[in-house]
Amino acid sequence: MRDFKNEFSWSASRDSLFDECKRKYYYNYYGSWGGWDRFKADDVTRTLYVLKNLENIPLWKGRTVHDEIARILKELVNTGELVTLEYLLSRVTNLMRQEFKFSRARSYWDSDEGLSKINFLFEHEYDVNIPDDKWKTNHEEVKTCIRNFYRSDVLRKVRKLQYDDVLSIDRITPTPFSFNDEKIFVNLDLAYKLDDKIEIVDWKTGSGESNKLQFLVYTMYANEILGTPLEKVSLIEYNLLVNEKTIHRFSETEIDQVKEYINNNISSMKKYLKDPNRNEAVMTDFPRTEDEWKCNICNFKKICFDLP
Ligand code: SF4
Repeated sequence: MRDFKNEFSWSASRDSLFDECKRKYYYNYYGSWGGWDRFKADDVTRTLYVLKNLENIPLWKGRTVHDEIARILKELVNTGELVTLEYLLSRVTNLMRQEFKFSRARSYWDSDEGLSKINFLFEHEYDVNIPDDKWKTNHEEVKTCIRNFYRSDVLRKVRKLQYDDVLSIDRITPTPFSFNDEKIFVNLDLAYKLDDKIEIVDWKTGSGESNKLQFLVYTMYANEILGTPLEKVSLIEYNLLVNEKTIHRFSETEIDQVKEYINNNISSMKKYLKDPNRNEAVMTDFPRTEDEWKCNICNFKKICFDLP
């Protein structure tokens, strides 16, 4: 396998983890680095890598819906063909069954593949007792989200677009861009041009709060990198579970404020590094949170307190 260099980059999710627990941030971005190669990585690195990739039930739902929509849209944009809803619902049911079995058997510990695109669950790793109806509800909600996507005006719009008007349809592969000599990553679910405007769609699959920081960074990307004036950039937050959409637009002042926030945030993150130029970190420089509630739901709880 190719060796990758652990380079510093900023993203809204990195910011959120840094805020949550410094030690969790270290495990995610430094301690687990290289753990994808189970024959080369030491035990601690491998364990941190596997734990880092655990999902929980709501995240599994979100990822399943996002992945399926990305797959459908790619196929639609490349071939002009849209798979039928019935076919898709059956495909997603089979996929979720396979993932459930894989996760319940904890097969991820023995996988030779990278785990970042495979779904397996915190609830199985930590033997959380989940009643059957909760699993069923999760599956039903995935199907509801997909049905609502098929009914959405966004899909109707995408069907009429030219190939070159679709700017992004995959949140799994992050898009990098430069900001003050740093690299920022954005994960756009869907972005397309409509005449001289840009619409960015963010799919939601539950009742979680909107991430305004993330929306501001998406808008900044459309404005600075794609060169679209702010008044022509719309961020569509589309909640597929309840079939509701909210449109956000941001002002120049808000974009200036987010740039300042990112600059300060990057400086704070780099202060924890042993060597910021080489992006080198030492585990004991990253303190654990004192909030037990965060530890109870943390992917790393089985190893965290055995480490220095
Ligand atoms: S178990 Fe607690 S202290 Fe350790 S990484 Fe997780 S949240 Fe942080």
